[in-house]
Formats: sequence, structure tokens, C-alpha cells
Amino acid sequence: MLSERVKRLVPYTPGEQPQDKAYLKLNTNENPYPPSPRIKTILQDFDIESLRLYPDPLSERLRSQLGSRYGLSREEVFVSNGSDEALSFCFYAFFGNERGSLLFPQLTYSFFPVYCCFYDIAYEPIPLNRDFTINLGKFVQKGGCGTILANPNAPTGVALSLKEISDFLESYPPDKVVVIDEAYVDFGAESAAPLVRRFPNLAVVRTFSKSMSLAGLRLGFVLASEGLISALFTVKDSFNSYPVDMLSQSIAEVALSDEVYYQAITRAIISAREAFRESLLAMDWNVLPSKANFVFARKGGLSGKEVYLELKKRGILVRYFGGEQTRDFVRITIGKKEDMERLTGEIRRAL
Ligand code: PMP
Repeated sequence: MLSERVKRLVPYTPGEQPQDKAYLKLNTNENPYPPSPRIKTILQDFDIESLRLYPDPLSERLRSQLGSRYGLSREEVFVSNGSDEALSFCFYAFFGNERGSLLFPQLTYSFFPVYCCFYDIAYEPIPLNRDFTINLGKFVQKGGCGTILANPNAPTGVALSLKEISDFLESYPPDKVVVIDEAYVDFGAESAAPLVRRFPNLAVVRTFSKSMSLAGLRLGFVLASEGLISALFTVKDSFNSYPVDMLSQSIAEVALSDEVYYQAITRAIISAREAFRESLLAMDWNVLPSKANFVFARKGGLSGKEVYLELKKRGILVRYFGGEQTRDFVRITIGKKEDMERLTGEIRRAL
């Protein structure tokens, strides 16, 4: 009954979204603050009659607004139903086996190998340095059919600097695409968006799910040269002409206008992260330096799974991954300051 294709698929495992009881959810990197209060007005005033019609398949207003935020034209912006969709379209449009394997760090967003499996793209994971930084020299040496990096990396939170990225792009073959997934960049890392005009082979993928606190809306976008963006449109229009619905487009436009609010909640998360990191270090944990809204940490003598189970009993969800390099770690999303204080208290008592 099923195709051979589907039988070969190994899907991504999303983090738990428990429906049974109210946990303190620090497992899926959601924002602890609500999205911009301005969204309420747009929902109250929304012309329901307009839902009769299909949304703008080109999302022109939203793309123009994003373009002006990043100093780019509308033609250099693509929007998608969550950045996972944008990433998937990038894999389809830019990477193929004709010129070798796709390169990405051995420890990174676990959706990357899933897309490779889905689109039948060969890939070569490049080992991280011992301190969990990315060795870009190895990517240049190998070349591959292209490169994808998450910056900051997930689940480590470790970031590359803009200088490291631009030096890398200078030495990487200009006819191979480099995708940078910047889902967490707003929490303290440097965006490669200013490099888009200089490197026509660069695609920067962003999301409204994290710093904009709109994970439920499912909206992502890509900043890249017109040539790459037009290839993404070809993929979209071969798949679903209207992946971004009318309400999402309007809500995103309003959210983008509230920069002051978003800067304030982002600052609060960064400051809660740094305070939490200090508390863990004081309790003898090992914590990687993070530029994301999570930390990747371990306590000597305990596996990630043990920490996860103990905290779950106490009503707090974090994430562990198993796997050779990651089994001792947990990834902890940064919530509000009081959430992190509660977690610190539980860790002190239980672990
Ligand atoms: N990139 C990374 C590194 C992520 O962790 C996530 C969230 N799972 C995404 C992209 C996708 O986010 P979304 O589809 O919500 O935009």
C-alpha cells in the first residue's frame, strides 16, 4: 500500500508538547513572553469576509517590510510556513548529489539529515572541535555540494562570529550555496544578513518562532540573492502555492512594527540566560557558552536522561538527545527569570 520512498523515511522527532498536565516547558525553545500586544488589535479588527479569498501567494507586503528591515529588496526575501519549510525548500533547490555531499557539522539541527533522507541528498557530517566550536577550515577543504550551518548552532548554542562567516564565504567556492539557519541569532549572535549582497551564494534562513514569540503562527523567511529566492519560489509553486495564510501575513506585519517590545523581551531572556548559567557553574555544572535562548549543560556523573527524568517528576521539562557526543547533556530553554530560579532550586534539591 505504501510507496518504497515513504518506507525509507526517518522522520524528525519534535520535542514533547504534553497535553496531560501543566509543566514548566523548557524543552522546545519557545519564548516565555507573549508576542507583541499589538497583535490583539489586528485580530479584533480583522475582516473575516476577506478569508473567502486566497492569500497573496507572493506575500508582497510582508516581503517588502522584511526587505526594508534588512536593507534588501522584496525580490531578495522569501517567506514560508515556518522556517522548517524554508529549510526544506533550500535543500531541494540548492543541494544535489551531482557535485558531492552536503556538508554540515556532526552535531547540529537534527532536521538536516532528515531533509537529506527525504530528498535523497548524500551528506557528510563534519566533526566539531573538542570545545564544540565549528571548524570551518574543514568545510573549505571538502567543498562538497554545498554547506548548511545553524548559527548559533543547535543544540549547543555556540555561535560563529560574522568575521568567521565572511572569511569562510571568501574562501568557499562561489558556485556552491551556503545556507545559514539563524533561528536563534537574535539572542546575542551576529546575523549574516549584511553579507547577502556580497555573496550571491549565501541564503540566511530566519524564523518568527523564537525571538518574535510566534511559534504557533508558523512563519519563517529567507534572505538571499534574487537568483536563489526565485529558485525557492519555483519549489514553493511546485508544492503549495499558498503556504503562508492571510492571518499570518497580517500578524507578522504588525509584529515587525513593534521592535521596542521585542528588544525588551529579548534583553530579559539574555539576562536570565546569563544569570542561570552562573548558577549552574556555581553548582559545578559544565555549561557551553550560549548565544541562543537555551543552554547546553551537563553535570558530571549524571546522564542527560537522568537529569531529564528527575526534573520531569518535578514538573519541569527539558530536552535530552542521547547519542555519543550528547548523552551527558541536557538542553534547557531559557524562560523568565522566575522560571529559571525555580529550576535552579529544583536542581539544587534533586541533583
Ligand atoms: N532551525 C533550528 C535550529 C531550530 O531549532 C528550529 C526549531 N525546531 C527551526 C529551525 C525551525 O523553526 P520554525 O519551523 O518554528 O521556524
